[in-house]
Formats: sequence, structure tokens, C-alpha cells
Amino acid sequence: MADKKPNLVPNNVVSLADARCQAEGCKAKHTRASFCAEHFEWFKAGLITKEGKQALDFDKKYQHFMAAKKKAA
Ligand SMILES: [Zn+2]
Repeated sequence: MADKKPNLVPNNVVSLADARCQAEGCKAKHTRASFCAEHFEWFKAGLITKEGKQALDFDKKYQHFMAAKKKAA
């Protein structure tokens, strides 16, 4: 008779989602505050929320962000 143990998932494994950048569609590993280096800058600039969702006026903010980046470079 087969031993049918329930398929237990070890709870000491960090879920993959937690190791990834929170930004939508980003596959990079997070480095700071659940974002990759690039998206952490986006988060700081208010382009995305801490959940990785784009801000309502993302397009406008993104243009400002890129313009500011060009100036800084
Ligand atoms: Zn990212």
C-alpha cells in the first residue's frame, strides 16, 4: 500500500515573489526596499507605489524623471 503523505511545502523557503523587484513586469532581483536599483529610483521619484504600481500621472512624472536624470548626468 502506498504511503500517501500530504505534500507539505517547507515554510522556510522564501517565495520567489519576495526575491523579485516589486515593479510590474520587472524580473530583476530586488536590491533595496523590494525594488531593483532602477525601480528604487522610480519609487523615490514617485513614479511607482511601494506595491510596484504605476502612479496615476506616471507618464508626466516619467518625463520629469528622465529630464532630471539627463540634467544630472
Ligand atoms: Zn525593477
